Amino acid sequence: MDARRWAGDVASSSSSKPKRWAGVEGGGTTWVVAIAEGEPDRIVKRADFPTTTPEETLPQIRNWLAAEWKEGRFDSLGVATFGPVDLDRHSPTYGHITHSPKPGWEAVDVLGILKKGWCPQSLPTGFDTDVNAPAVAEYAAVQREFVQIDLESKKQKAPKSPAGKFVRALFTDGDDDDDVLEQEVSTSTSGDEETDDSSKQKPKQDTYTNHNDTLRFQNLAYVTVGTGVGVGVVCGGEPVHGLSHPEAGHIRVARLASDGLPNEPGSFQGTCVFHGDCIEGMAGAAAIAKRCGCDMSQLAQIPDDHHAWDAAAHYIAGMCCSLVMVASPQRIVLGGGVLQRKTLVTKIRNSLRTQLGGYVKHDFVERNDGLNQFLVASRHGNEAGIIGALALADRALELSLKPFSSSRKKKSVAKRLAHYFAYGVSCALVTLKIVNEEVRLRGKKAL
Ligand SMILES: [Zn+2]
Repeated sequence: MDARRWAGDVASSSSSKPKRWAGVEGGGTTWVVAIAEGEPDRIVKRADFPTTTPEETLPQIRNWLAAEWKEGRFDSLGVATFGPVDLDRHSPTYGHITHSPKPGWEAVDVLGILKKGWCPQSLPTGFDTDVNAPAVAEYAAVQREFVQIDLESKKQKAPKSPAGKFVRALFTDGDDDDDVLEQEVSTSTSGDEETDDSSKQKPKQDTYTNHNDTLRFQNLAYVTVGTGVGVGVVCGGEPVHGLSHPEAGHIRVARLASDGLPNEPGSFQGTCVFHGDCIEGMAGAAAIAKRCGCDMSQLAQIPDDHHAWDAAAHYIAGMCCSLVMVASPQRIVLGGGVLQRKTLVTKIRNSLRTQLGGYVKHDFVERNDGLNQFLVASRHGNEAGIIGALALADRALELSLKPFSSSRKKKSVAKRLAHYFAYGVSCALVTLKIVNEEVRLRGKKAL
């Protein structure tokens, strides 16, 4: 996504009719459908439907969308769902949930069913996973902050929102950055887990503060830990698709010594039915509940000092460490029920720094204040999924507008050619005039 587009949106929003987006989030227990207006994260209408069977749930969403389309239209549609899903637009099963382990939801044409009977072929539509979509939304939100800062700096105004101040503190020049960063540190660290105060003595480096496009936001990862562990990745401003989509919740990292070796007597056996001791199998809600000897619904009652949280932090941080090494995200956003526990986030930050072993040299991963900005809770909380779906709708709308910009380019090329042609004719006429005058003078002299 292009930050300049946001600038254009901000500039034109007051004069044109506000845009409207429709979003659908498919979750394991609930499907959510919503309309946003003016901004893709400004929800003005929504409905929730329990996840039962595809035959029952999806037509309910479709009917809601059809009624909304009839009543007020919208500019685009975004659908984010649990998967695995087929994201290849050239595939005959594009828009399907493919081999989902969720009973009854295997090989379901989600997009086809939702659009049937009301949706025009031309309506821009985005489709992605329920973790790539929040990654797209978080990325877009940061881009909007950049634009806001650009606009405010042009007007020589101080940034208004704390979020804007955060981006300014990380990526732009200015002496006022220091107090912003200090403020963030004092509010976001409780001091219960972090004991390394070396960052306070260390002068801030220029790596944050050079106003340079190459340091601007390009890569972001969104991690959710609940019953499942999912990871969405945006690289170079685009959600990552390929063979399938990122499934980093199913990678393996080094086991804790206290967990023993797989299948060894007394060792901890992971809960993933596919891999056993992948991240989901070692740190998902089912694994934490198994360590605590309780049901998943009782996890909220487990105290912060239970070793199960340390184990979970180790595995989730190991996954974040792999993400840093592979995709070089400039921010990792944490969402999902398990990560609502604040002490767990602090433990993950500390473990991440340890597991990186000082190899990656950047304040984001070396300093407490950097880590507090690098590894953050989702700004949208429980709404991350539906806001993500709306962000997909916005992205689809943006992509659909690209041909217009290229035709405008062609027009400007034609204008330029006409300009050169007129210039050439003018030059020729002037030359003829001079030559003609010369001939006339010579003729006079000859007489
Ligand atoms: Zn697995």
